Amino acid sequence: MFGKHIGSKLSAHLHGELPPDETRQVAEHLRDCQRCRTEYEEISFGAQMAAQLNREQAPDSLWNELESALNGNPVHRKGAVEAAATRRKSWLAIPAVQFAAVAVTLSLIGAAFWLYRRESPPEPDNRPSWEVTRLEGQPVIGEKKMDEKGRLAVGEWLATDASSRAQISVGQIGEVKIEPNSRVRLVTANGDEHRLGMTHGKMEAFIWAPPRQFFVETPSALAVDLGCSYTLEINGDGVGLLHVTLGWVAFESQGLESFVPAGAMCVTRPQLGPGTPYFNDASVDFQNALAKFDTAGTDHTVRSAALDAVLIQARKRDALTLWHLLARTVENERGRVYDRLAELIPPPPKVRRKGVLNGDRTMLDAWWDSLELGDTEWWRMWKGPLPTQTK
Ligand SMILES: [Zn+2]
Repeated sequence: MFGKHIGSKLSAHLHGELPPDETRQVAEHLRDCQRCRTEYEEISFGAQMAAQLNREQAPDSLWNELESALNGNPVHRKGAVEAAATRRKSWLAIPAVQFAAVAVTLSLIGAAFWLYRRESPPEPDNRPSWEVTRLEGQPVIGEKKMDEKGRLAVGEWLATDASSRAQISVGQIGEVKIEPNSRVRLVTANGDEHRLGMTHGKMEAFIWAPPRQFFVETPSALAVDLGCSYTLEINGDGVGLLHVTLGWVAFESQGLESFVPAGAMCVTRPQLGPGTPYFNDASVDFQNALAKFDTAGTDHTVRSAALDAVLIQARKRDALTLWHLLARTVENERGRVYDRLAELIPPPPKVRRKGVLNGDRTMLDAWWDSLELGDTEWWRMWKGPLPTQTK
């Protein structure tokens, strides 16, 4: 069914060394073949860990300084802040450098102003754009009905009606199918930042680039690709539903973060931001109770009853949901979540009730790491080294 396996091409694929048509074939094979996908994940995990080791070495000491500063240790705080300040300022302390910096800044402002006056508005043809393929009906780019192929430039909208669909090539890193009744804008098309905005409709994204290169802005949260395939649907009220089919996606807004693995879903709501993620196969009662909790606001009675219903019905696998609830609960609510999660997945050594109730990040990370939610390799890869691992 899948033709030949592609083990020999995986390393070249990971390093972006394949020509575009082959990249696409490999990506499609990866989407459909579990065996090659597992192999690819192992290879990219190794590569990522090696890269992380190099990247993390320098900031390590700085991180420790910051951490003790945050922990309120007055002696270290002074030292840390001074050390950081010295590091940043030392080269600026020389008057000649300061003068040069000011001169460069001024000339940049001047140049920017001149460019703005001369070239605003920008020529549409000079804008970066992505290829769009018509799949059905007559999708519209800007004001124009599109032919078989078209280009979506930065700042332009692609719209589909009830009977049209289109496919957008996300630079060289993936593709996004736009389903009927959707409205999508190309926000950014840089080498390492690919960003769409969607006001309503449905898209199916498949991205084969390293994580954090593809973003979708929705009315109430930012979807950050962490190496994966997913669908994202936004209804007329701006409520979004994310459904991950491969890898991980993060939903971010207003300081809330939801990490959604394959097989899980997450709702995002205007004003409220990303809800608590849950697995598709959780019971309907569990899902309903969770939605009640997420939307209860300050109604303490509703909130408390909904939380109890979630906790009672939680299976071991629903640790995904319970762990996220630790960051979305307060005081005795959080204690109840802690106790139920501890029954399902006993906390690893050094993770203490009191610490978790105080929001201790190290303990939360350590517990998350022990949840074994399936693709934990993906999680470790993209979240970066956990404090417990770097000892
Ligand atoms: Zn294969």
